[in-house]
Amino acid sequence: MSFEVHAQGAIHVFDCFSCAIHRMAPICEHCRVQIIGQGVEAEGKWYCGAHCARAEGRAGIVDRV
Ligand SMILES: [Zn+2]
Repeated sequence: MSFEVHAQGAIHVFDCFSCAIHRMAPICEHCRVQIIGQGVEAEGKWYCGAHCARAEGRAGIVDRV
């Protein structure tokens, strides 16, 4: 029971949903946690939350609601 994820023009085939999450989820640039669900992007970098973005010097970042 595999499925496909289409992202950024590429097609990724996964056997399970958790595999897909671990392959596709961005990593927080500050605390290195995998971002599953809500995250913030600043200047092409991903953070798990506004607090990590600010810790890396990204001013003016607020959590999306
Ligand atoms: Zn973080």
